Amino acid sequence: MKIYRFLHHGRIAESSSLPDGATLLPPSTPTKIVCIGRNYADHAKELGNEAPSEPLLFLKPPSALLAPGGTIVRPAQSQLVHHEGELAIVVGREAKNVRREDWRDYVLGFTCANDVSARDLQRKDVQFTRGKGFDTFCPIGPHIETDLDPSDLRVVTRVNGQVKQDGRTSQMIFPCDVLFAYVSEHMTLMPGDVILTGTPAGVGSLEAGDTVEVEIEGIGTLSNAVA
Ligand code: ZN
Repeated sequence: MKIYRFLHHGRIAESSSLPDGATLLPPSTPTKIVCIGRNYADHAKELGNEAPSEPLLFLKPPSALLAPGGTIVRPAQSQLVHHEGELAIVVGREAKNVRREDWRDYVLGFTCANDVSARDLQRKDVQFTRGKGFDTFCPIGPHIETDLDPSDLRVVTRVNGQVKQDGRTSQMIFPCDVLFAYVSEHMTLMPGDVILTGTPAGVGSLEAGDTVEVEIEGIGTLSNAVA
């Protein structure tokens, strides 16, 4: 089932279909956005990093969320803003110390995400907070897909229609069940929280006037303009 969240006649609503004239909202309202760094070996390599021996966690603030169709704003502080197309897990039930084999009981579904990154600031800082945390740096959507096996899905990112990233979730160093259990050992996951599972190789810059799309097999396409 698809779950859309949208604004319709001045009211926020959720439903499995999108009425005419509705404006899409981010499909989830997370208390936190947990991200996994360097979860695809080719991507770790392209940025000159070793593949991690355990999942590398960081957070994006919920203020970074952007609706499908919304505009990513390049901040004045950065000269190098990158796209990172990623599969996102949406939490359905409060989850703490979840066993790997039980992870799916705690998941509502999956959506597309773009872990937009100010790469120059990320390189300069020890923490990723600044480089990953700007407003509009976390587009998610267009909807949550509840019936999906996430273990081998194609994840494609296009800029102005040109394919830049083309990977499969089966290439993850740590698959979704391992990630979910691991994150839940470190922090309580709340309904609506989102886990971004890492990006395949091919990250590159976004310029004003670009359109960036993240398409995931079995879900759909998240499209955003850049200003
Ligand atoms: Zn990322």
